[in-house]
Amino acid sequence: MAAISIRNLVKRYSDGFPAVNDVSLEIADGEFVILVGPSGCGKSTLLRMIVGLEDITSGDLLIGGERMNQKAPRDRNLAMVFQNYALYPHLTVFENIAFPMRLKNVPNEEVTKRVNEAADLLQLTEHLQRKPAHLSGGQRQRVAMGRAIVRKADAFLFDEPLSNLDAKLRGQMRTEIARLQHQLGTTTVYVTHDQTEAMTLGDRIAVLRKGLLQQVGSARQLYEEPVNLFVAGFIGSPPMNFLPGRFKNGQVETPFGTVSAAGPRLSKVGDRELVILGLRPEHFEDVRLVDATKRAQGKTFTAEVDVTEWLGSQLYAYVPYDAPSEVESQLEELERELDSEQMRTQLVVALDAASRIRSGGRA
Ligand code: ATP
Repeated sequence: MAAISIRNLVKRYSDGFPAVNDVSLEIADGEFVILVGPSGCGKSTLLRMIVGLEDITSGDLLIGGERMNQKAPRDRNLAMVFQNYALYPHLTVFENIAFPMRLKNVPNEEVTKRVNEAADLLQLTEHLQRKPAHLSGGQRQRVAMGRAIVRKADAFLFDEPLSNLDAKLRGQMRTEIARLQHQLGTTTVYVTHDQTEAMTLGDRIAVLRKGLLQQVGSARQLYEEPVNLFVAGFIGSPPMNFLPGRFKNGQVETPFGTVSAAGPRLSKVGDRELVILGLRPEHFEDVRLVDATKRAQGKTFTAEVDVTEWLGSQLYAYVPYDAPSEVESQLEELERELDSEQMRTQLVVALDAASRIRSGGRA
């Protein structure tokens, strides 16, 4: 059993500001959980507290039901894979993978057997006699994973393991990590700042911001039912659009005109209240070129396209707008909640790649 229980964990560094602030999270045996959030949100600190590289200021950490707060890292039986791989340059791939077993004086025969099994799983067999300097970034990453696998650890902990790889390799390694974790069924906690990585890996995602846990759920739950503006803006690429407006008679007056709007949250909004509409780029329907003099009402609006991006399967149209001064408080709230220096005063609309809308067109 290697369930991980994180109970009200707090980490205060010497400056007193809590880098991890009362975080609780139950990770089931065999579960793959991603910790995600912007730089400085505390995700690495939380991971380092689990593995024992940071002291716990308060709260409890249990692994397999046993309290770990005071246990040294070597007594926790966890395997950590770092961003920089932490390989020994003078040792061969074989010896790098074997290293944790050498420390425990595992018999040679057993070492060879386990290294060969791991190499087979990671497609490293033909490279076992090479030194790390003669490997590609992806291969080095696999060696680091091999070293974690042979330890038969209770859990794997990954700290941004793919951030030194190029985009294509990152995609491949992502699939490999998902496959491996599935095959081995080992409890895994994986830290990343990349929301795409978070969405595609793992059973559940925990979103952190400024040391506070914002939401925990499947990728779908976070995408479709974000609990706050921050999660809504952080998960999804291109990000969700936020459109400030005024609610009136079941409709919202937006900078583009009045549109009908419904939704569980809007049903609680009073008449003439200022709101922020969240619209995913793909939620615009039936986008097409129109006669600009016809400004429709109801469920439609017209807008001028500034820039388009064609990505093969989809086309993104960027539509800037001027927000009226009455929604300034909304914009300020957005700026605060999205951790963005720049106010969002543009919409991103996803269209079919065959759409004939170009920069400067009207839609
Ligand atoms: P990144 O993605 O940039 O690695 P992160 O989300 O992993 O960020 P942490 O490294 O956990 O963030 O840091 C959380 C907060 O704690 C940050 O504000 C950071 O400046 C602070 N912090 C981290 N390590 C220390 C330390 N040793 N002493 C003081 N403050 C620290």
